[in-house]
Amino acid sequence: MNEVLKPCPFCQSNDVLPRTPGTGRYQHYIECDGCGSEGPGAYTEAEAIWAWNTPTIPSVEDIRREAFEEAAKVADKYAEDVWGMTEEEAAACNIATAIRAKAKEPSR
Ligand SMILES: [Zn+2]
Repeated sequence: MNEVLKPCPFCQSNDVLPRTPGTGRYQHYIECDGCGSEGPGAYTEAEAIWAWNTPTIPSVEDIRREAFEEAAKVADKYAEDVWGMTEEEAAACNIATAIRAKAKEPSR
């Protein structure tokens, strides 16, 4: 293999490797050992590498969903321990739930 894999677009790890799990037409893909992200399935390893290295432009909906998910994760951090939750942590938990519900609504 002489093509160089780009670092993971999600966690920036260089620990990315081609994988071939078994049978099937689009069995080749690239996996990040840093965060477990997988590139698109491809017919050949070369195609899998190309797909991994070629950034796709995310849709507005994707960006919106990710932004909401990030916000909900921040709120989750304040509410990790369900038992013995303070009032503030319970509020954070409710905020996370509300943000996730909002993310499911169509954007205007
Ligand atoms: Zn990664």
